[in-house]
Amino acid sequence: MSIKYSNKINKIRTFALALIFIGIIIMYLGIFFRTSMLVMSIFMILGFLAVLSSALVYAWIGMLSTRAVQVTCPSCKKVTKMLGRVDACMYCKEPLTLDPELEGKEFDEKYNRKKGYLKS
Ligand SMILES: [Zn+2]
Repeated sequence: MSIKYSNKINKIRTFALALIFIGIIIMYLGIFFRTSMLVMSIFMILGFLAVLSSALVYAWIGMLSTRAVQVTCPSCKKVTKMLGRVDACMYCKEPLTLDPELEGKEFDEKYNRKKGYLKS
């Protein structure tokens, strides 16, 4: 296998963390424009929005986590959380499935979309 799969919750968490950094960087860039009050304010607001949306993403992860299924990874024996019908282990990236039908089949993200598990 050449492609590395990553756990969805971890992926979203990484995204939220990246948003915080992006927000801070945007706000920091604003300092270079302190000669113009307007440009600086725009940077500050954009940076603030990025940080704010990251907080929203974190709240969303919290909500998803309550719906995530806890499973023990057959490969590393650690308890991991999975979303949807297929997901990867948080620790060793072992592809996991909840559906016996898909067992042994090639890991594919599109299995998650069939049922619309994440809809609503
Ligand atoms: Zn594992």
